[in-house]
Amino acid sequence: RKTMLLQAEKLTAVGQLAASIAHEIRNPLTSLKGFTQLIEKTLPEVNKHYFAIMKDELKRIELITSELLYLAKPKAQEFKHEPIWKIIQDVVMLMSSQALINKVELRTFHLEDMPAIPCVGVQLKQVFINVIKNAMEAMPNGGAIDIVGSRPSEDFIMIQVIDYGHGIPQELISKIGSPFYSTKEYGTGLGMMATQQIIHAHNGTLELTSQDGQGTTIHICLPITGKL
Ligand code: ADP
Ligand code: MG
Repeated sequence: RKTMLLQAEKLTAVGQLAASIAHEIRNPLTSLKGFTQLIEKTLPEVNKHYFAIMKDELKRIELITSELLYLAKPKAQEFKHEPIWKIIQDVVMLMSSQALINKVELRTFHLEDMPAIPCVGVQLKQVFINVIKNAMEAMPNGGAIDIVGSRPSEDFIMIQVIDYGHGIPQELISKIGSPFYSTKEYGTGLGMMATQQIIHAHNGTLELTSQDGQGTTIHICLPITGKL
């Protein structure tokens, strides 16, 4: 068992640079996509194959920029008191079709009695989307993912996302959250960096424990007061 603690200070600079680049890329990308769709029907048959590749590559750029955009500073956005059960329920709903396809059951425990916390709701949703997506991807044969709420102290709530997937070898745990670190064929290696960045901006902490071959738990602590 090993723990990864986020190195949030270093991440902030990288994250903000990345987010601003992503933002700059988004507008030209939207126009590229629009015009690509427009010429699709006019293409001669011989070029259809190249066109399919172009569309795939555009999708890939879109995925990378969308993951980077969530690094944008939550500080600049409004913090509101929101119940964590509602945020997680929305995410579970959002991911339910993907869960069904992957034969994964998303189970929640002790979330109803958690107090509301000051947060940027859309960003916390992105955190849970990233973490649950990773958990699903670690369980290619399906299974259960448990999302468990608790109150470790007066000032904090904790949400644990527990999977029973392939786990992470000890020596690789410290690499997680580094920009572009991914062990997946189509991974971006940006999800955990964005996740850490958002949790840090909420004055929270993120820890990861994993046992190779047995599963991984992400522990997210968030303060109950402040930031409003
Ligand atoms: P990506 O999912 O695009 O690869 P992430 O930043 O989300 O990028 O995750 C980085 C890496 O951390 C993953 O490629 C994977 O190796 C590892 N990882 C993250 N979460 C888990 C998990 N729940 N189980 C096993 N490995 C994980
Ligand atoms: Mg991921």
